[in-house]
Amino acid sequence: MTTPTRGSYWITTFGCQMNKADSERMAGILEGMGYKPGSGEHSADLVLYNTCTIRDNAEQKVYSYLGRQAQRKRTNPHLTLVVAGCVAQQEGESLLRRVPELDLVMGPQHANRLETLLEQVASGQQVVATGEHHILEDITTARRESTVCAWVNVIYGCNERCTYCVVPSVRGKEQSRSPAAIRLEMEELAQRGFKEITLLGQNIDAYGRDLPGITPEGRRQHTLTDLLHQVHDVAGIERIRFATSHPRYFTERLIEACAQLPKLCEHFHIPFQSGDDDVLKAMARGYTVERYRRILERIRERMPDAAISADVIVAFPGESDGQYRRTLALIEEIGFDQVNTAAYSPRPGTPAADWPDQLSEAVKVERLQEINALVERTARRRSERYRGRTEQVLVEGGNPRDPSQRMGRTRTNRLTFFPDPAPSPSPGELASGGIQPGDLVNVRIEEVRAFSLTGVVVR
Ligand code: SF4
Repeated sequence: MTTPTRGSYWITTFGCQMNKADSERMAGILEGMGYKPGSGEHSADLVLYNTCTIRDNAEQKVYSYLGRQAQRKRTNPHLTLVVAGCVAQQEGESLLRRVPELDLVMGPQHANRLETLLEQVASGQQVVATGEHHILEDITTARRESTVCAWVNVIYGCNERCTYCVVPSVRGKEQSRSPAAIRLEMEELAQRGFKEITLLGQNIDAYGRDLPGITPEGRRQHTLTDLLHQVHDVAGIERIRFATSHPRYFTERLIEACAQLPKLCEHFHIPFQSGDDDVLKAMARGYTVERYRRILERIRERMPDAAISADVIVAFPGESDGQYRRTLALIEEIGFDQVNTAAYSPRPGTPAADWPDQLSEAVKVERLQEINALVERTARRRSERYRGRTEQVLVEGGNPRDPSQRMGRTRTNRLTFFPDPAPSPSPGELASGGIQPGDLVNVRIEEVRAFSLTGVVVR
């Protein structure tokens, strides 16, 4: 059967890895329907914004982009305009009232249904798909941005109720995929040449708790640890990572599995959000700083070189200077390899947004600047350990800024640059016969920076 040609599409993605993974699947669906990748959002026949509500500025950006597209649509009625992701889920019908030129508003749970929804649009409807939806097994082939590293969703949604977070209301209840479906997707990716898989979930430690089954020892049959054992030996996949971890549910068994299974990379992304127990309680995170410390101690006992990254929020409502200082102290004490920082931003519909003790913008900016400087210093200190060492690097491509260099990542996820002896035709491309994407090479590290390294290949 031949696929009809439908014109070009453009997807702009805001926000987290979950959104990026959803965009790749939606691009795969569009290409399966006959759309071709467009050269820009102002010339494409179908424009899709996959949106994020975590920060107010991402949301405002979407509205300004949509304003321009709405204008285009007035002179080009064949343009199809789609808003997907978390703003779509949160705003639903009211987005159509605000931007009547929109054809389709679809929440993240509906990503795999894009074709069906576009068929409804083609029949003349304006469509809003934001209801709770049982996510269909991935029947599509994602169009992946990388040819080496791929994301694989293992659980959608989140049942936690962190008081600052909109994810549970926009992404719905937890829905785990079956281990068989996850393994099959990984096998297909391996056959297509992918070498590294990141298993994804908003709270990946919740994996399996909605799946049936109890072991003879009386524990849940499906956990993240069991999943890792089940998918670890997929031939052709060299590295496995997972994110995002939740300190409340991170287990000893999981640490043990990561230490034992050779493809599991020594890199853990475990958000701590605050270094103060009372703030953690107000956030409803369900753990203490002491528990967080113990998890990291245990990881470092079993994998001394493990890289640890995290997320933190400063200026949460009511956060005192002393509480904020405890967060700084925790960053110093742990010595993180990377920390994603954010100043608290109230999200409509979340409990903390209505609390009276919101902090001023000035305090937010000041704390954010101070913590960013500390994160950089800590990361730089952590990077020092690589100097003179030889690291295994998985090559992802050429350095877009320097045609003489290749780039890849260490097992601990440090971005690493190194020259390829074969000349390169142009920036970002690789010479045939030289080092290619997907190759594993050993690189002796000669220069270290806070978040990246440079070295030379050693045979
Ligand atoms: S665990 Fe908390 S922060 Fe993470 S997605 Fe769920 S509610 Fe949001």
